Amino acid sequence: MKVSPLPKTLHPRRIAQSGALIEGSLVVAKMSNLCDVLSDSDGILNVGLSASKDEQHRVHIHGDIDGSVWLTCQLCLKPMQHSLNHHFDLLVVLTDEQAQQVVKNHEPLIVEDDTIEIMKVVEEEVLLSLPLAPVHETKLMCQEHQSFIPLTEEVDEKRWNDQEQPMIQPFTNLKALLSGHKTDDSQQ
Ligand SMILES: [Zn+2]
Repeated sequence: MKVSPLPKTLHPRRIAQSGALIEGSLVVAKMSNLCDVLSDSDGILNVGLSASKDEQHRVHIHGDIDGSVWLTCQLCLKPMQHSLNHHFDLLVVLTDEQAQQVVKNHEPLIVEDDTIEIMKVVEEEVLLSLPLAPVHETKLMCQEHQSFIPLTEEVDEKRWNDQEQPMIQPFTNLKALLSGHKTDDSQQ
């Protein structure tokens, strides 16, 4: 994973004019509000930021956040790695009043002096993107999963499912043989 630090601030209006793409990494441990909800502060997030102007000369900030954070599975309460692949679009406004007037489908961001603190914005976006009740994705990882099957059985099940032929029940014949034997035995 690329670890080139991001600049601390970004000037949306300036970036929108130049068309520049700002890329770099943020250390999860430095975002204290985010760390408050994580089970572990380990990790790095790759961030890409750009800005553009729309027909009404409003400035939009576009961002992508990639990486992973550690959450707590709400079923088994064990740490789980959560992949982040979050895209966001923010509409730059100057005042609270303007923010309230922003039409649907736009997330307003109040920006004074054409300066945003990148880490703050990224941290807020990551917090918004996190699931409310994270749970392990597969039953192999989570012992409290509803359909949890002990590891060995899971592997057996997978082996059977991986076979392309319809499932053969190997013991059907054996049973017939055994009962056949029994019949033979009883006849003898
Ligand atoms: Zn779990």
